Amino acid sequence: MEKAWRTGTAFIGADIGGTNTVIGLFDEQGSPIGERRIATMRSDPRRPTSEPAAFMDRLALEIGALALEHGYRDIAAAGFGVPGWVDTAAGMALDASNMGWRNVRFAEEMSRRLGAPVYIDNDVRLYTLGEAAAGAGAGCANLVCITVGTGLSAGIMMDGALLRGSRLLAGEIGHDRVDGLDSPCNCGKRGCLETIASAPGIARLATEAVQSGKRTSLADLDRPITALDVYLACDAGDAVAADIFSFAGRTLGRKLAALALAVDPQVIIVGGGVAAAGDYLLQPVRDELAAHIPEAEWRPSVVPGKLQDKAGLVGAVRFAIGKWRQERGNEHAQSS
Ligand SMILES: [Zn+2]
Repeated sequence: MEKAWRTGTAFIGADIGGTNTVIGLFDEQGSPIGERRIATMRSDPRRPTSEPAAFMDRLALEIGALALEHGYRDIAAAGFGVPGWVDTAAGMALDASNMGWRNVRFAEEMSRRLGAPVYIDNDVRLYTLGEAAAGAGAGCANLVCITVGTGLSAGIMMDGALLRGSRLLAGEIGHDRVDGLDSPCNCGKRGCLETIASAPGIARLATEAVQSGKRTSLADLDRPITALDVYLACDAGDAVAADIFSFAGRTLGRKLAALALAVDPQVIIVGGGVAAAGDYLLQPVRDELAAHIPEAEWRPSVVPGKLQDKAGLVGAVRFAIGKWRQERGNEHAQSS
């Protein structure tokens, strides 16, 4: 039997993470049609590589297969959230240190492979766009979204527009140094906020607590401690685990208080893997905001993200559809 092709327009929204990449196929309204998940670091499972060309080849194959699987011969446009320092206008991944990428012409290279326009932005900015469009920030024009996962970063939306800044570094709060901290950070400095307010940071604080002889159930584990272990211990009433989330949350809260006074968001949305710790992390953040900004009516609410790992996809596809419509509009304007 002959395959029935769809005649509608399909779009791709994808979130490239340090470990996994999630690819979503969407219709023109931004409604999801299908999804695939691939490992970011290994284009060949037997050979770990972060070589961008090999990864982009693999990505293009998966996108083609995903579209075909749902009856689409081609796609209209694709949006990608890329970690690290991204030049949106030039379509370049300037520095994604987790993957060892530097100055990768991602949009141009992927566009050539897909035969469709490709738009990119920093992953946390697109996550922010997703939560603002269809998640915990729906209806808010001014919001801050932070992701606490392998690292810590913020996306800032003001009057409905994402802030990028003069060096495209707006929101890099994870690399603000904190007095009294001295652990090495991925960025090469020591004592960055990210060295405690992140999954590896929480795990490291727990390991140090065990090594220093503190009485905690985490000492009974016979393998490296993870942030999830700390959450489970906290949930079971372990005071040392609770102190770790409290310390990380309070330190994060101090930075967010300064950010809140600078940009005056309606809401601060907390996403990323560590946000699964819920109020163990969020309540200390709220307490610290209240300590720094005693006027309740001046304070943003602090809430968990709603879309979880879908926020990046939703933001990426909305970004792509918006840019695609804008460029088509310009073409029409020029030809008429
Ligand atoms: Zn750093």
